[in-house]
Amino acid sequence: MRKLLVSFLGILLLCNTTLAQAPKKNSSSSIYHAIQKLNFLGSALYIAAHPDDENTRLISYLSNEVKANTAYLSLTRGDGGQNLIGPELRELLGVLRTQELLAARRIDGSQQFFSRAVDFGYSKHPNETLEIWNKEAVLGDVVRMIRKFKPDVIINRFDHRTPGSTHGHHTSSAMLSVEAFDLAANPNSYPDQLNRLDVWKPSRLFFNTSWWFYGSQEKFEAADKTKMLGFDIGVYYPMLGVSNNEIASLASSQHRCQGFGRLNTRGSEMEYIELLKGDLPEDKNNVFDGINTTWSRVEGGKAIGDILYGIEQNFNFKNPTTHIKKLVEAYQLIQKIPDTHWRDLKSKELQTIIASITGLYLEASSANASAYPGSTADINIEVLNRSQVDIKLRSVTIGNTKAKEKDLVLSNNEKKELKLALPIPENSSYTSPYWLNKKGTLGMYTVENPELIGNPETPPAFQAKFNIEIEGYPMTISKPVVHRYSKPDYGELYRPFDILPEVTARFQDKVLIFADGKPKKVPITITAHQDNIKGEIVFCYSNGWKVDRETRPFEISKKGDEQIVSFELTPPENEDESFIAPIIKVHGKEISKELVTIAYDHIPTQSVLLPSEAKVVRLNIEKVGEHIGYIAGAGDEVPKSLEQIGYQVHTIDPSSINAETLSKYGAIVVGIRAYNVVPEMKFKQKYLFDYVSNGGNLILQYNTAGRWDKQYEDIAPFPLKLSRDRVTNEDSKVEIIAKDHELVNYPNKITNKDFEGWVQERGLYFPNEWDGHFTPILSMGDKGETAKKGSLLIAPYGKGNYIYTGLSFFRELPAGVPGAYKLFANMLSVGKKNVEHMAKIKD
Ligand SMILES: [Zn+2]
Repeated sequence: MRKLLVSFLGILLLCNTTLAQAPKKNSSSSIYHAIQKLNFLGSALYIAAHPDDENTRLISYLSNEVKANTAYLSLTRGDGGQNLIGPELRELLGVLRTQELLAARRIDGSQQFFSRAVDFGYSKHPNETLEIWNKEAVLGDVVRMIRKFKPDVIINRFDHRTPGSTHGHHTSSAMLSVEAFDLAANPNSYPDQLNRLDVWKPSRLFFNTSWWFYGSQEKFEAADKTKMLGFDIGVYYPMLGVSNNEIASLASSQHRCQGFGRLNTRGSEMEYIELLKGDLPEDKNNVFDGINTTWSRVEGGKAIGDILYGIEQNFNFKNPTTHIKKLVEAYQLIQKIPDTHWRDLKSKELQTIIASITGLYLEASSANASAYPGSTADINIEVLNRSQVDIKLRSVTIGNTKAKEKDLVLSNNEKKELKLALPIPENSSYTSPYWLNKKGTLGMYTVENPELIGNPETPPAFQAKFNIEIEGYPMTISKPVVHRYSKPDYGELYRPFDILPEVTARFQDKVLIFADGKPKKVPITITAHQDNIKGEIVFCYSNGWKVDRETRPFEISKKGDEQIVSFELTPPENEDESFIAPIIKVHGKEISKELVTIAYDHIPTQSVLLPSEAKVVRLNIEKVGEHIGYIAGAGDEVPKSLEQIGYQVHTIDPSSINAETLSKYGAIVVGIRAYNVVPEMKFKQKYLFDYVSNGGNLILQYNTAGRWDKQYEDIAPFPLKLSRDRVTNEDSKVEIIAKDHELVNYPNKITNKDFEGWVQERGLYFPNEWDGHFTPILSMGDKGETAKKGSLLIAPYGKGNYIYTGLSFFRELPAGVPGAYKLFANMLSVGKKNVEHMAKIKD
């Protein structure tokens, strides 16, 4: 049902067309809504740190009720979080969340921007955040966005005055916004930006407060509100047929990888903002009070306003084409405004309105989803005027190629189709998220072209420029070249048209663990992005490692097909970590890229090109047992990692859990957040405890405290209370407190060295209270905090062992961290010492 609602809104709301989405189709009432927006010349910028921080209720209210040009600046792309819908993590999760934000903005009718800051994971204080981010650079990005977007008002999601009370990224976003508010107007700050941008002074800065920041509703009601503005954001839009808060719920439900899908809300609801800088408006319900938001704010605007306000007042819903002549006249006047900011913005808005009124359909669609540099793409062009308005097509240009030389009269509802063979220049850049093209640092993405900074995504590979003449007046309307196709079980679909290398290669495993000195087959999958391609693949590796052959040939006849080429890699004698990479030699070029495709039905399909490489680790690891059962939670790659060190991992369907299915395995591992996301778990707990009692090993990885039904009070066979305790610094000191426990001695001796080289964090949601049956194994803590002992707890229960661990194995194992493998092998082997001994005696 939600999908239906989304497309319904898509029809109703006339918002910025975004890359490769199905074209928006607008009714009279949504066109009228767009004309109202056209006649409002004011901008609002909302600032926070992550995808999902933004208050969609307020953003939608500003965009749809106030009708302001509205945007959300999220300092990060949310790379550091978890993914509830698929395997993407880190930079790939950032790509997915970027698109989820864009999907949300398409619904609430606003825009989306970012800085170069990386979401490197949780940080407890802004001091830590601003040390890892390059503070000067991120501040510069905020200044840049203010100068580019020119907001009259800025609204911060978080309070800059309370460091340490929330995620360090949150407070940092507010602190940087407060600083940037003044710097944007100062020609001496970031002067290099002023080559292309002007200084800008916003009028007001607010903090989007709520009772939550005051601790309770009562405290908030009693608070001094003289500097606060309040709005009823539950307003109903009869023109759109929805309430503002309904739009907001749909928008925030796009954060699907964060599990933010929620019920729509309706009805009166207050939202408050507190003035931090600028003058206090007299009208406490109007954030723009006293700011000129009419056409008279721009030079030459009065004559435009005279036309457009007239149309707004006497809009002809039955036949909006009666307004075309006047709209075209206004369009001509807008071309003459000296203020390029408003000229560009309002020209685009008015073009969309004119095209909607005339039912003008303009599309350039490639026959294929991708092409490679040096090839030719077949483009189908569809042009259709669905009105009596006089429209001519003069030409269509894509890149330097023209599809139509002579004028073509577009008569009412007579579809014109043109074909164009588009040469893709040899020097074309590949389509991939621009912020991932160069290696970044822990805290910052590297973006070489400053023009791209702030943009949500890479510009489309090609824009089709439709040069038309409407009522005798020339106008150029640009549309990204897309790929339109259909699926029998779905219907019409769109995706971006991408420029990709002719061939890409990927390792099947990003990390290869050599648990002993034996050689391993290393398969490399080569994917052809053109027909009839052949060449040679070169295997690159480090000193000490050996490979059976340096190169192998490959040949693939069909585009989209794959070939697997295997090399045999022998590890060195001693423990070692290094990287391997393939180089593909084809057409005299050397290509070493891997293509990752991110496809979900709530976002446009994304092609991400990454350096093709894999980490290889030579470990000296001992393990006991062979067959492990894995109950997947929110999705993690732990099973694949365990297979690498020789375990046979069997995925257990939660609905099939019973005494018999469990008894086959030497150990059962429960994936991250299983109790949060797998509803069946509440019925299966007794079987898991019986399994332990009968001699099994049960290992639970982290779950989020509080986010489940009451039934889970008994997540463990003995009382255990989860908390929000976490250790975020991956290098923080670890002390082994149960030195003699089997868990840190058998079969691998665990030492402090095994806690070196961890990534992103130590762990999260550690229990902070536990029954006396549990033994805490480790103690660890972030700088300036008391050490926590709940990261790894074990309790014997019956003949078996129950283990609860908030350590981030789901990050460490896929990253190939040797110590994490040894500790996990010990968890799986605990209690098996005698079993193994018995087996040896039998042999
Ligand atoms: Zn956040």
